[in-house]
Amino acid sequence: MSDVLVAGAGPAGLLLAAELALAGVRTTIVERLPERPPYCRGFNLNARALDLLARRGLAEGLVAEGHRVPHAPATGLPGPLLLDGTATDHPFSLGIPQTRVEEVLEARALELGVEILRGHELRSFTQSADDVTALIHNGRTERTINARFLAGCDGGRSTVRKQAGIDFPGVAARWYALLGDVECELPYGPSTGPDGRSVFVIPRPGYVRIVVREDDPPPDKDTPITLERLQEQVEAVLGRHVELRAPRWLSRFGNAARLASRYREGRVLLAGDAAHIHPPAGAIGVNVALDDAFNLGWKLAATVRGTAPEGLLDTYHAERHAAGARILANTQAQVALEEAGAEPWADLMRRVAAHPAGNRALAEIITGLDACYEPGGHAWLGRLAPDVPLRVPGAETHLAELLHTGRPVLVDLTSSGTFAAWSAGVAVVAAVSSTSDTAGVDAVLLRPDGHVAWVGTPGSGDAGLAEAVHRWVGDVPVPAGA
Ligand SMILES: Cc1cc2nc3c(=O)[nH]c(=O)nc-3n(C[C@H](O)[C@H](O)[C@H](O)COP(=O)(O)OP(=O)(O)OC[C@H]3O[C@@H](n4cnc5c(N)ncnc54)[C@H](O)[C@@H]3O)c2cc1C
Repeated sequence: MSDVLVAGAGPAGLLLAAELALAGVRTTIVERLPERPPYCRGFNLNARALDLLARRGLAEGLVAEGHRVPHAPATGLPGPLLLDGTATDHPFSLGIPQTRVEEVLEARALELGVEILRGHELRSFTQSADDVTALIHNGRTERTINARFLAGCDGGRSTVRKQAGIDFPGVAARWYALLGDVECELPYGPSTGPDGRSVFVIPRPGYVRIVVREDDPPPDKDTPITLERLQEQVEAVLGRHVELRAPRWLSRFGNAARLASRYREGRVLLAGDAAHIHPPAGAIGVNVALDDAFNLGWKLAATVRGTAPEGLLDTYHAERHAAGARILANTQAQVALEEAGAEPWADLMRRVAAHPAGNRALAEIITGLDACYEPGGHAWLGRLAPDVPLRVPGAETHLAELLHTGRPVLVDLTSSGTFAAWSAGVAVVAAVSSTSDTAGVDAVLLRPDGHVAWVGTPGSGDAGLAEAVHRWVGDVPVPAGA
C-alpha cells in the first residue's frame, strides 16, 4: 500500500510526489496518458516558482537551460512589469517549455523512489476514516489501489474533485479562443484586421503559436478543431487569405474562472488546475500548480509520518485557497483591463503600472511574489526568506541550500550559538551573514517550503519560538524554560 496516491503527472502531481518521497513517504502517481503529449502548453517559469524550486536545488539547472526575460508576463497593460527590485532571488521570467520542467520533475520523483504508472486512469474512489481506495483502469483491466491519502492533481476537469463532491463555483467562459501551433508567414505579435480585431502570433521553437478569438464556438467545446477552421477564423479577422501549414497542435480555451470550494475533503486533497482554473493572463498556471504542490508536500508528509502538529494539514487550504482566490481575481482583472478601452479606471490602472513603485507592486502581485502567510508581523514573517549568502563552519553556503533536505531549519545568526539548545527538537544551523539583508535578524525559523515561521530580533531572545515550533514542526523537545 502506498502512503499517498497522486492522480495526474502534470507539474503539480510530479512536484508533490517528489516532495513526499523526499520526506520518505511512499508515493504512487497514476497518469491517464500513456506518455507525455508531443505538444507543449506553457512556456515559462516565473520568479516565484524559481524561488521555490531553488529551495530544493532544482532551479539552477533550469535557469541554465532557459531564456531569461527581465519582466513578468501580464495582459492588458501598456508596458512590461519589470522584476528588477522586486522581492525575489530570480528577478526574471524564464522561457522554458512546460514539458521540460515536467521531465526534470519526473526524473527527480523517480530518483527519489516514486512509482509512476502511466496509462492508468483513476475512475472513482471511496474513502474511509483510515484510507482511500481508488479504482484504476489501465485501458485493459481494472484494479484497486489503497493509500492513506489521495491527491487530485488531475487538471481542470478533475475526476478527484468531482468524486469528492467538492463544488467548483465561479464564472463560465464568456469567450473562447482557438490555438494553433503551425507554420505561417504572419509576423510575430498582434496582426489587426479591418474591424480592429487581432490575431496573435507567438514565436515558438521551429513554429508559431496562433491565437484568435472564435466566432460562434460549437455547443460542445470538445469538438475537434481542424486546420481549415483555424484558417477560416484567422482570415475572418484579418480580411485576407492567410496560409497555415504543418499543424502540431490545435486546441480551444476559454476564460472561465473557478475555485474549488475547499482544497481538502477528509483524506483527499486538490492541487493545481484541479483546484482552480482562471483566464489565460499572466502565464501563471504551471507556476501556481508548483506553488500549491510545494505548500502541500511537507504538510502531507508530516501528517503521514505522524509528526504533524494538530491542524497542520488544514493550513494548506487556509493558505492556498486564499492564494487561489487572489489568482482568479488578478487574472480576471487583467482580462477586464484588456477589454476596458478608455474607461477611467483602466486609465488609472495603466498610470499605476507606469509608475515605478506601482509597476513593482503589480509585478509582485501578478507573479505571487507578494505571498505572505502571516501578514502584519516582522517584515520577513510569513514570507519566503531571501536567499542570502551564509558562512557555516568550514563552508560557504546560502539560505536556500539549507532547505535542500526538505526539513525545517532554525538559522542562528548570532555568532554566539544562542539557539544551540533548540537542536534537540529542530535542525539548528549556526551561520554568519555579512549582507545588510539580515540586519536586525538574530535567528529565523524556516518552514520546509522556505516561508518564515518565526523571526528572532536583537533583544527578543527566543520569545515566541516555542509556539512557532509547536505550530509548524510538532511536539518536539524545546529547551527548558523556553
Ligand atoms: C494553451 C495553454 C497555454 C498555457 N501557457 C501557460 C504558460 O505559459 N505558463 C503557465 O504557467 N501556464 C500555462 N498554461 C497553464 C498550464 O498548462 C496549467 O495550468 C498546468 O499544466 C497545470 O498543472 P497541473 O499539474 O495542475 O495539471 P495538468 O498539467 O493539467 O496535469 C494533470 C494531469 O492529470 C492527468 N489526468 C487527468 N485526469 C486523470 C485521471 N482521472 N486519472 C489519472 N490521470 C489523470 C492528465 O492527463 C494530466 O497529465 C497554459 C495552458 C494552456 C491550455
